[in-house]
Amino acid sequence: MLPRHHIILGAIFSFLLFWLFSLTLLQASLIFLASILIDFDHYLWHIQKKKDLSLRNAYLFLKKLDKNPTKPLMMLFHTIEFHILIALLGFLWMGFFYILIGMAFHSIIDLLYFGKRNMIYIREFSLIRYLILKKKYPKKYF
Ligand SMILES: [Zn+2]
Repeated sequence: MLPRHHIILGAIFSFLLFWLFSLTLLQASLIFLASILIDFDHYLWHIQKKKDLSLRNAYLFLKKLDKNPTKPLMMLFHTIEFHILIALLGFLWMGFFYILIGMAFHSIIDLLYFGKRNMIYIREFSLIRYLILKKKYPKKYF
């Protein structure tokens, strides 16, 4: 899904929560920012795989790959393990719970987006499963 769609949906979602549950501006902002910035892992993935720091190149490469996937991708911030880590950090600072809400919203939108296109297989949502399968079938995964 394109970043602009996540920005629009994240803004609507965080505004609704702000309005419905009388959240503070900080809490709503954390939800909104997390719902967008979770995709920063795509840029990190591109840097690691392509050894290229260009944000524009990362955007164009991943946009093309999303339309025509060849192998499943593992995006670290989108994994269930990373969501659990953020939930655990919520016990140290309450703000992480709002970050988790934004991340979970984003992940649900991604799942619906890929599910609707019968492309759910292009993502690996578990870091542990990815590491096991990548070791077993190195050519099957990016
Ligand atoms: Zn995403």
